[in-house]
Amino acid sequence: ATTAEALVVLGQKHVNKGVPKLTQDVFQSGQGSWVTMLSGKKYLDFTSGIGVTNLGHCHPRVSKAAADQCMRIVHGQCSIAYNEPYLRLIEKLLPMMPHPSLDSFFFWNSGSEAVEGAIKIARMVTGKQNIISMQGAYHGRTMGAVAVTKSKTGYSEGTHPLMPGVYSTPFPYWHHFLGTADMGEAELVRHCLYQLELLLQQQTAPKDTAAIIIEPVLGEGGYVPASAAYLRGLRDICDKHNILLIIDEVQSGFGRTGKNFAIEYSGVRPDIMLMAKARCFGLANGFPLSCIVSRREITDNLKPGSMGGTYAGNAVACAAAVAVADVFKEERILENVNARSKELFSSLEVLRQSPKIAPYILDVRGQGLMVAVEFASPTHSVHDPVIHKSAPTNLSTRVAARCLDKGMLLLTTSAYETVRFIPALNISYEDLAAGAAIFTKAVEEIVD
Ligand code: PMP
Repeated sequence: ATTAEALVVLGQKHVNKGVPKLTQDVFQSGQGSWVTMLSGKKYLDFTSGIGVTNLGHCHPRVSKAAADQCMRIVHGQCSIAYNEPYLRLIEKLLPMMPHPSLDSFFFWNSGSEAVEGAIKIARMVTGKQNIISMQGAYHGRTMGAVAVTKSKTGYSEGTHPLMPGVYSTPFPYWHHFLGTADMGEAELVRHCLYQLELLLQQQTAPKDTAAIIIEPVLGEGGYVPASAAYLRGLRDICDKHNILLIIDEVQSGFGRTGKNFAIEYSGVRPDIMLMAKARCFGLANGFPLSCIVSRREITDNLKPGSMGGTYAGNAVACAAAVAVADVFKEERILENVNARSKELFSSLEVLRQSPKIAPYILDVRGQGLMVAVEFASPTHSVHDPVIHKSAPTNLSTRVAARCLDKGMLLLTTSAYETVRFIPALNISYEDLAAGAAIFTKAVEEIVD
């Protein structure tokens, strides 16, 4: 049999180099918040596979539900007939929706596909073309999704021209607004909404604008929650101009932020909401499943055949998601998220207060267990050039690498010098504390 080392060599040679790796190792198994690699190394997983395995790896109820479904029917194609887990999943999701008007579902495989579908639906039902997305947004890698992604040029570099008709507007994140260090929240919100109104006056008229798409918490773009006031302002602008509001909860949904959906913090009603990795509960805890949900009046007039996909709403993934929904309720996952979140924030706060570290931490932010630490950076020396210019470079990547050495998987975000904590939503007190301790030690060692 091929050895673990030989398999890695094979991977290095034959796996598409467009996919970077945090570590040159091979997943062997996972249980709860821990993964074991073929090399024999064990890691505490603070990535949840980028916010997917919200109930930890291989939750027995979810794995069993998927295995049982495999013995019944794997592929109940969605354009041929309904499949039972698909419908049972809708039954589970309906009462969880952040607004009762969200009652028409379409399941797909990935977040990117959900974004593509939402853009197409918005164009089809409004008869308008243009889409506005946020600076710093991440919505996926397929051609439509990458066109509305604004977090890093690396996602689209070399692939232009992108889908036309996309405009961008500032996301209310004060750290990177030149000269806004003293700006209060209300003023920042007013400024950003004003920029959006200007965009609608100067570049894309409301009669040409189909939708605005936003993550209620910027994900890859830095883990920045949008304030409730900004989201309410967006809703008002959409209502005033007859523009659809698409809320992308792919990373922030299903308990990740301490509520079922991050949009609930603002009370704003989405016209279309997208769910996936947090795969409709980290939707299916690792099985590929995404979802576009909207009002029936939006989708009822779509032409038959305008939506579809060979694997859309796969029966095994839906069966897994139904089990996730049950576990989510029975194991009181939201309570755990909020308790562990407090512990994580207080541990990060202690680190931030430490005199040696304080100059290098720009921000600690997030909601629930969607938490980020942003480090000072000589390339983002907007507010305090003295401190930032003296900060070591690439702090986030170096801290993440040091955490890896110490047995913990931790990711950076694609914008700024930011690391993000995305542990399983049912992580134990002990594992959370162990992860926070590893991170503290890693930062101390790197900064020292
Ligand atoms: N939207 C958001 C907010 C995301 O975080 C992601 C994935 N990181 C996507 C869309 C794309 O999802 P997928 O990778 O499943 O295509």
